[in-house]
Amino acid sequence: DTVIVLFNRDLRVHDHPALAAACQEARRVVPFFVVEPGLPSGRRGGFLLDCLTDLRASLRRLGGDLIVRQGEVVAETVRLAGELSADAVWASADVSEYARSREKRLAAECKRIHTEFRTFPGVTVVPPGELTPNGGGDHYRVFTPYWRVWSSTRRRPLLPAPARVVTVPGLEPGRIPSSFPGMRIRPVDGSQASLNGHGGSRGVPAGGETAARERLETWLRLCVADYDDGHDDMAGDRTSKLSAYLRFGCVSPLEVVTRAEAEAGGEPFVRQLCWRDFYHQVTFAFPQINRVDYRPRKEEWREDKDALDAWREGQTGIPIVDAGMRQLKSEGWMHNRARMIVASYLVRHLRLDWRAGVEHFFDYLLDGDIANNSGNWQWVAGTGNDTRPNRVLNPIRQAKRFDPEGDYVRRYVPELSHLPDRAVHEPWKLPSPIKNYPKPLTTPPAA
Ligand code: FAD
Repeated sequence: DTVIVLFNRDLRVHDHPALAAACQEARRVVPFFVVEPGLPSGRRGGFLLDCLTDLRASLRRLGGDLIVRQGEVVAETVRLAGELSADAVWASADVSEYARSREKRLAAECKRIHTEFRTFPGVTVVPPGELTPNGGGDHYRVFTPYWRVWSSTRRRPLLPAPARVVTVPGLEPGRIPSSFPGMRIRPVDGSQASLNGHGGSRGVPAGGETAARERLETWLRLCVADYDDGHDDMAGDRTSKLSAYLRFGCVSPLEVVTRAEAEAGGEPFVRQLCWRDFYHQVTFAFPQINRVDYRPRKEEWREDKDALDAWREGQTGIPIVDAGMRQLKSEGWMHNRARMIVASYLVRHLRLDWRAGVEHFFDYLLDGDIANNSGNWQWVAGTGNDTRPNRVLNPIRQAKRFDPEGDYVRRYVPELSHLPDRAVHEPWKLPSPIKNYPKPLTTPPAA
């Protein structure tokens, strides 16, 4: 009769299995979000507020509302279920350790008050745990075999937004806060018009399903075909920038994949979304991924606070590393190639613990999530799912290959903006030092 749909990182009305099922099966549907103290950190807070505002507007257009309360999610959900004598609480299943423990607590508490608790898919394309290797094991450890099976797996059909959401009359909707403690400034606005796949699109636009869908449309229409050629062009900004939207579920990953598969040249892009599913199924099987080596490592990491601070601030004296770290701080986003270079520099050259990298990225990335962040960090550190765990990226060679004109460096490291292409990646080779730019923290590897 009455179903509470608990929203979390699925902040959309299109292709939302729990919401769709509730609207079909229940007489009254109560879309619900709990703002937990300390939940949204840093910039992600601003993005989350946009997502909630947009979701509420969409639900109101459909005749319903988003009920928002503050407090602890399990306690508030159970309280609301009690107030409404709800028959069920439905939510999208998630993978992190915290999310799983929340689901367990919700299940137990709902049982206590004789309310059904059920989870639905929607956070990934293929639900984690659904694909298991032939040779045994509860998850895939290597990407390529996973990709092969994932690509040929039958998927559930895409679900339209519900035609109508009928909610409980007179229920106080609750206020969406206008800011959170510790919330930093909003990201630079990257206008939709500049998303043409050829430079200029800086920053991440406002959060929410409406913005996500606009970006997806533009991306599919104008850019996805260019992805294979362009995704490693650091200065060109030729990737989708859908990551923060996927992080908050403003757009369904299944919809992104289904739509991209229908486009000529969409496959390399779809493959990246498979990496997202891959790390989610690893995290589902190994929930301590953000803290514990997936493949234990014998050597100790170094401790060096000054070096860590220099890395965090983009003051290592290696231009490509500093450019990436400064992009992260100023935009809340970093190009994937830059993420690999700065991560490799931290763990291979400075020999500092990947966990410090995970934490810093998590503080600043709009798309920061446990599975992708930790999975990729462990991959770079050689403790994760790389089949070549000793791979070391030479930052200078990477810079010359993926930022050949040095434009990416010049954009984020103004101290070097006057340098010619040849010098920008190796300023230490110049006869005199650059004003205000540090000498390299470690001996730079030869290109
Ligand atoms: P596109 O190139 O347009 O890719 C489309 C989507 O595919 C992305 O939005 C993302 O959801 C997925 N994807 C792409 N590459 C990867 C990948 N290597 N692993 C998993 N999914 C991928 N991604 C996050 O979403 N959150 C993180 O916290 C995060 N931390 C990272 C940390 C490190 C050290 C590294 C090397 C990578 C990390 N990534 C993370 C993966 C990747 O860098 C970003 O997903 C990508 O840069 C986002 O930009 P985009 O949306 O334009 O990507």
